[in-house]
Amino acid sequence: MTVQPIRLFGDPVLVTPASPVVDFDKELRQLVADLTETMKAAPGAGLAAPQIGVPLRVFVWYVDDEIGHLVNPSLDLSDEMQEGEEGCLSFPNLVFETPRAFRAVAKGFNMHGDAVVIEGTQLLARCLQHETDHLNGVLFIDRMDTESRKLAMKEIRESEWFGTAIEQGSKPVVKVSPHNTFGLGI
Ligand code: ZN
Repeated sequence: MTVQPIRLFGDPVLVTPASPVVDFDKELRQLVADLTETMKAAPGAGLAAPQIGVPLRVFVWYVDDEIGHLVNPSLDLSDEMQEGEEGCLSFPNLVFETPRAFRAVAKGFNMHGDAVVIEGTQLLARCLQHETDHLNGVLFIDRMDTESRKLAMKEIRESEWFGTAIEQGSKPVVKVSPHNTFGLGI
């Protein structure tokens, strides 16, 4: 298991839709192990494969003391919404108010290819939505209304890490400091 560098906003892999996993093989198990280690080291509450530069539909989470992973997820969401702040390990040191559905049901597979259903509310629901978005090349700033997004982008542009992903092209960028996203980085 290896902790991998986390890609930062500005890296094209974060806005590229990921491909479905076809082979439930040793490489997939290695990917899940690397994602889990990298998430725990950050520390974060979730991490999607594109965030470590792997364009596959796989993510992990660590919410309410439970670690899990999901492959090729699809989501059903409640109409009921939740308010709350959200962070992202690809946007170090920032959290923003982000609207999400209150409840999410995620259907997919575990790393052995068995069908699984994960149901969550509150932070787990938020995490399932945030990570599935990552697999579609969608970022949390895309879930904000125009005004909130504008304010968020101002803070992002003023952050010390902004531009490092772009300057270094698609090379992995090692995180600055521990990712202080107040336990909300996903
Ligand atoms: Zn994220």
